Amino acid sequence: SSRPRASTRMVATPDKVGTGVKRNENFAKLKAGYLFPGIAKRRNAYLEANPDCRPIISLGIGDTTQPIPPHILSGLVGGAKTLGTKEGYTGYGAEQGKADIREKISEKLYNGLIKPDEVFVSDGAKCDIGRLQMMFGSGVVSAVQDPSYPVYVDTSVMVGQTGEVNEETMQYDNIVYMPCKPSNDFFPDLKALPHADVIYFCSPNNPTGAVATREQLEALVAHANAKGSIVVFDAAYAPFIRTPGVPKSIFEIEGSRTCCIEVNSFSKYAGFTGARLGWTVIPNEVKFSDGTPVRNDFNRVMTTAFNGASNIVQSGGMTCLDDEGMAEIDTLMDYYLENAKILKEGIESCGFKSHGGKDAPYVYVDLEGKASWDVFSEILEKAQVVTIPGAGFGPGGEGFLRLSAFAPRESCVEAVERLRAVLA
Ligand code: PLP
Repeated sequence: SSRPRASTRMVATPDKVGTGVKRNENFAKLKAGYLFPGIAKRRNAYLEANPDCRPIISLGIGDTTQPIPPHILSGLVGGAKTLGTKEGYTGYGAEQGKADIREKISEKLYNGLIKPDEVFVSDGAKCDIGRLQMMFGSGVVSAVQDPSYPVYVDTSVMVGQTGEVNEETMQYDNIVYMPCKPSNDFFPDLKALPHADVIYFCSPNNPTGAVATREQLEALVAHANAKGSIVVFDAAYAPFIRTPGVPKSIFEIEGSRTCCIEVNSFSKYAGFTGARLGWTVIPNEVKFSDGTPVRNDFNRVMTTAFNGASNIVQSGGMTCLDDEGMAEIDTLMDYYLENAKILKEGIESCGFKSHGGKDAPYVYVDLEGKASWDVFSEILEKAQVVTIPGAGFGPGGEGFLRLSAFAPRESCVEAVERLRAVLA
C-alpha cells in the first residue's frame, strides 16, 4: 500500500528527550549511588591537583585481590575442559544447582542441618538478594542494620517497598533502620523497633566488622518467630570466624528453621568475586502467612528468572568443598585476617579507636564525632590512602571509616606506615 510504514514515520518533537517509555518511579528515588562515584571524584580531583604524588593505596572496595588457590582452580579448569568432551558436555542444568554441590554444601557447610533440596545454588549473594526482593515484592516492610551493605536498602527501593528518602534523616520512608553502634554492641534493641516483615541481618558485618554472638542470634530468631517476620541472614563473611562457639550460620540457632533464609557466597571464601558462585538456603518450614512454603516461590523465581549457575563454576565450587579446598580457603582467610590485624593495630597506634577486624575482614574506625567524608579527604591528601566513609553505608555510619583487609599484604603494611607518619 502507499501508507508509510510505522517505523519510518518521524514525529517532530523537538523537546523530546527519550523514548515514550515512562521511567520506573522507584528508580528515581534511589540516592545511594553517590558512594563510589563520590570516592572516585575525590580521588581523581586529588590526582589532577597532585599528578606526581606517590601511588595511591586503596583500602576501599571490599573486592578480593589474592589469586584462586591451585586445588580450587583445578576444579574450575576441570569443569571447563569437561565441556570440550563428548562424554562430559552438558548444557542447561538444574536451575537450583547440580545435585552434587547441593549435597556437598549441606554436608560440609551445614553439617547436615540443612537438606540438599533446601539449597539453591546461584551466581552470588548479591544476585540472590535481588531475587529474594523480586519474590517478596512491594508489599512488605524491610528492616536493615544501620549501617549496612547498601544492597538491602537499594533493592527494597527498586521493587517499590519504600517511599522517598527523607533528606533530613537520609532514611527512606517505610524501611526500618536498626541502629548498630558501639553503644549497643552493634546489635539493635529489637523490641524498641517498629514491625518489619523481612529483617536483613549480616554477620560478620559489612561495614562494621561486628560478629553477632550466639545469644544475639538467639534473640534475633526468637524475635522473628514471635513477630512472624522472616530473617534474611547474610553469611558472606562466615569463613572469617575463628573464635570457637561463634555461629557461622543462622541455622546453628534453634528455631531458625521456621523463620530464616541464609544467603551466602564463595566470593570471599575463595576469591570467586569474578567467577561468581553463591547459594541461598530456605528451609521447608519457612512459610508465608497463607501457608505457602517460601522455598516454592523462590524456586519459581530461580526457574523463571535465572537459569542455573555456570556448570564450570559449580565444578570449582566442588573443589572448594573437599578437604584440600577447605584447607586452601582457611589459608586465604588467614592471609586477610592477618591484614585486618595489621590495619587494626596500625590505626589504633595512630590514636583511633576501632571495631571489627577480628573474625571479619573490615576494620571500623571510630572518628569520635568527626565527619566521615572530612577524614576520608584528610587521609587521602596526607597519606594517599583511600578508605570508605561510613556514611556511605547509611546514616548510622556517619562518624566512622571502613578499612578493607582485602588489599595485598604489602599495601596494608605501607598504608599503616603512611598513616602513622601523618596521623600519629
Ligand atoms: N553480602 C555482603 C554483606 C557483601 O559485602 C557482599 C560483597 O561485598 C556480598 C553479599 C556480595 O556477594 P556476591 O559477590 O556473592 O554477590
